[in-house]
Amino acid sequence: MNFLRREETLLMKKFPSIDLGRCTECKGCIEIAPTVFCYNPSTGMMEVIEQEEYPEDLVNEAIKNCPEDCISWEVGEYPTSKPA
Ligand code: SF4
Repeated sequence: MNFLRREETLLMKKFPSIDLGRCTECKGCIEIAPTVFCYNPSTGMMEVIEQEEYPEDLVNEAIKNCPEDCISWEVGEYPTSKPA
């Protein structure tokens, strides 16, 4: 049972998330953390770049400076776009 619990923990990940309903695509987060945030011209929306670990200081700075207050940390299974 402990083994299963440990496996579940390893699947959990802390990652930044953007509330796209409030985001105005000002791109301020890209200026602060270009390795974390990007703009997808195909969708016309901001995206979080998938990576193993996120630079906590940079993401916190982007959260602090987002004019719409729409970036937050989430903890859970990371929503990957790659097939399982
Ligand atoms: S700083 Fe905030 S409002 Fe501006 S693009 Fe990034 S997430 Fe959207």
